[in-house]
Amino acid sequence: MEQNYFQKEIETMSREDMKQLQSEKLVKQVKHVYENVPYYRDLMDKKGVSPDDIQSIDDLHKLPFLSKADLRDAYPYGLLAKPLEDCVRIQSTSGTTGRRVVAFYTQKDIDLWEDCCARAITAVGGTKKDVCQVAYGYGLFTGGPGLNGGSHKVGCLTLPLSSGNTERQIQFMTDLSATILCCTPSYAAYLGESLKEMGYTPETIPLKAGIFGAEPWTEEMRKSIEATLGIKAYDIYGLTETTGPGVSFECSEQTGMHVNEDHFYAEIINPDTGEVLPEGEKGELVFTSLDKEAFPLLRYRTRDICVLSRKKCSCGRTLVKMAKPMGRTDDMLIIRGVNVFPSQIETVLLKEGYEPNYQIVVDRVKNNDTFDVNVEMTPEMFTDKVSEIISMEKALAGAMKTMLGINPSVHLVPPKTIARSEGKAVRVVDKRKLI
Ligand code: ADP
Ligand code: ZN
Repeated sequence: MEQNYFQKEIETMSREDMKQLQSEKLVKQVKHVYENVPYYRDLMDKKGVSPDDIQSIDDLHKLPFLSKADLRDAYPYGLLAKPLEDCVRIQSTSGTTGRRVVAFYTQKDIDLWEDCCARAITAVGGTKKDVCQVAYGYGLFTGGPGLNGGSHKVGCLTLPLSSGNTERQIQFMTDLSATILCCTPSYAAYLGESLKEMGYTPETIPLKAGIFGAEPWTEEMRKSIEATLGIKAYDIYGLTETTGPGVSFECSEQTGMHVNEDHFYAEIINPDTGEVLPEGEKGELVFTSLDKEAFPLLRYRTRDICVLSRKKCSCGRTLVKMAKPMGRTDDMLIIRGVNVFPSQIETVLLKEGYEPNYQIVVDRVKNNDTFDVNVEMTPEMFTDKVSEIISMEKALAGAMKTMLGINPSVHLVPPKTIARSEGKAVRVVDKRKLI
């Protein structure tokens, strides 16, 4: 496939030039933060680091980390680095794992963010000839506004549907021949299911590509969405604290996401010790905003677990790549002492021919963890014969045991009985109240 770039000079920059650019930006950014954010200045003072100690990107490790707890501490204005009158927007996290966090943007910050999303749309083959349906939520959530801005920059005809109202989504998609769909992967799967029920086949659905992110999803889920919608499905990653979607994006190779590292410097650390890990090792992703003016977080711990790679990419981009995040450190369940990620369960389900419609319920009864997985049968496999259901449940529990090392109780439920999500799916119900 012939490559298009939105900002070729950056996206294919040599490693030396990129390092130079990052270093120059970091030196300026540290000064800006030190002078304007007393909260972070205190952290630097406590660590005995001054802006003069930061001469290049190699000095980044000297700076203190920021965590979500700091953001909550400093809520709402404590990390603001520009006068409020210079800010033009706030966005807020979805609150998946606790109290919401607000982030501020100047017009320049918005432009930078939209450029990142435009890079993502261009990388999946999007041009001004495309019709881009944005079915991420609009509003405080960053998904809708981010991709909307990116779509405008590329010049696509933008369909700002926001999330929900599946009938209307399908009507606009088919009447106006949407070619690119942007939404969460769980909603894409649901749209696929609904289109199939309405008699659409992959050939009669106008879409050619999808940009799906905001929550973890597996390779198996990618294949399943690609088959149902007849598209190529690409990953996109981001978080409100850094901007929103577009911090990294997938290209034609579909083997991980290029980080927009001219704006966001990525590190992988050992989450227990804070030590920076070498390329290729799995750990917690940490981002430093090199350009942002209003809310420039330095060494922000995302809690997302993943791996970085600088292996040459066939698309020609030289931007470092991050693997699909396999979950968050706070997503990981410890059940009977064993680490369990929802993504592992999803992998097993799709391998065994199920759809990714499931919910994990964990509880503690008499000091013992209970571990239940409710899974929908597909319409094709649906049966109400108890003996058949029991043997299917056993087989699935066996496959999960092989993957996880512990035995869940699997409960098969009829199709369409697990609530669908229009935004981020709720996969885990932990009733143990351990915190
Ligand atoms: P919240 O933390 O409340 O969900 P956000 O809406 O800002 O706040 O979501 C950011 C988080 O969403 C990321 O830190 C990450 O855990 C998750 N996320 C975003 N994109 C992806 C993706 N492509 N794959 C896996 N996880 C993702
Ligand atoms: Zn690439």
